[in-house]
Amino acid sequence: MRVALFNHPFNDFYKSPSRMSSGILSYLAHMIGNYESICFDVVKHIVTPIDLPDELSYIAPHICDDITDYSFFRSYFRFGAVHNFNHKDFKVFSPDVILITTFAFCYADGLKDQIEYLRKLSGAVIIIGGSGVSSNPQWYIENVRSDFCVVGPAEIVLPELIERINRGVGTEDLVNVFSSAHMCKVDLNKNYNFKPYYSFNKRNKTLQLQLTRGCPKKCQYCSIGLTAGNKFRKSNPDDIENVFKLFPTIKRVDFEDDNLSCDSKYFFNVLDIVRKYCPDALISFENGIDFTTLTDDVLERLQNYTILQYNISFTSAENSILDTHHRGYTVDQFEVSIRKIIKTGKPVIVYFIAGLPGDTAGNIFNTIKYLFSLDVIIGISPFYAVPGTKVIENIKESNKPFMTSAMSFNGYGVISELEKITFFMLTRFINAMKKSNKNEFTVLGLKKSIEEKKIIGILNDGSTFEYQLDSGLVKQFFDEIIGGVLYE
Ligand code: SF4
Repeated sequence: MRVALFNHPFNDFYKSPSRMSSGILSYLAHMIGNYESICFDVVKHIVTPIDLPDELSYIAPHICDDITDYSFFRSYFRFGAVHNFNHKDFKVFSPDVILITTFAFCYADGLKDQIEYLRKLSGAVIIIGGSGVSSNPQWYIENVRSDFCVVGPAEIVLPELIERINRGVGTEDLVNVFSSAHMCKVDLNKNYNFKPYYSFNKRNKTLQLQLTRGCPKKCQYCSIGLTAGNKFRKSNPDDIENVFKLFPTIKRVDFEDDNLSCDSKYFFNVLDIVRKYCPDALISFENGIDFTTLTDDVLERLQNYTILQYNISFTSAENSILDTHHRGYTVDQFEVSIRKIIKTGKPVIVYFIAGLPGDTAGNIFNTIKYLFSLDVIIGISPFYAVPGTKVIENIKESNKPFMTSAMSFNGYGVISELEKITFFMLTRFINAMKKSNKNEFTVLGLKKSIEEKKIIGILNDGSTFEYQLDSGLVKQFFDEIIGGVLYE
């Protein structure tokens, strides 16, 4: 029994390290270790600028070669290619099963293309899995020519599914495995063992880790319950130590967990492992750290570790939005916490979501205004609707997967697309103002923008242009937020 593992190409404005990382292929290959396997990373080394789909034509007027730090995107890209792998190796290996992992529903078109391409080369059984499939298996069954869709953590059922395929016996009684022939029972609370996920970037010596699964909280827009369940699970500290032993020089450790600090004993246990193996490595929590877990005691203890920065999720400065989406705190509680976190002296990035159901342009404006007043960098997350989440019930869904990407700036009828793009640019503008090291073009652009009360970009030849944003919001921004700020 031979298993070939693939990721697939996808379209977006940018690619973050965790998207379609080849590390996940190695992780899965290890999980099905009883079988011969080979990994094909079709994303690496290929980036092609492409046209925007017609449905995203409202973004086109903003794409430009602005050289300031607050610029909009320069191009839309295809990352990877369906044929970007060694065909000779594939042919010689001659897989019985092809396993394709997919990162998010918004990239389903790339997955579809990969499957169609591989179908022409091989008669192998095709299994798909990953976050996208977990949140919306029905869509994949109806729209993608795979044989099986695995929902939730692969550890629960993938080894057993491959074993059954190998033995040629039925799979109907397995949980979390959909096929066109039968819908299955989903059970993400089944107990299972898992290893820490890691990926090491040799260039900047950064070790990216995901050590836990699931989150006990139930924020209405979050898909974690669909992909990993609501039970918080932790990988074994001995296994974590073994990961650190693999890399002699680590300069940075980035935790990609959804909620690592949820169990403070485990959290500090993990931080002690970092300190033991790489005492000088800087520690970050790029996927966010829950500020409600950062009590006075925890913050004081964290002073003993090499924390690089805090990435904090806030959502909104409007209590009704926090309440509707079950965030479990109020703006006042955030205010008390964030001031203490800022006091630690570490850089702080606060993320909010623009355009949740129930949101208004006024709420978003007030959130930006509030965050401008704090000594933090602002992270804007344009709301995107993950199929299967509770929040979907209250919005107009699109049947095009790419419309569910954050960077589609889809307003979902909550706010307009132009308002969403405008808020994105205003946030970038504020961050450029707040950053201490700016290039000369950024300084020039900021000054000119503030003078003219417009968002002005600068092109390579030094010429300037005005971003065509929502003029009412831009005016309000300069009148009420930037106000009398003089830019030197
Ligand atoms: S706390 Fe974070 S990970 Fe947990 S449900 Fe809410 S958004 Fe999702």
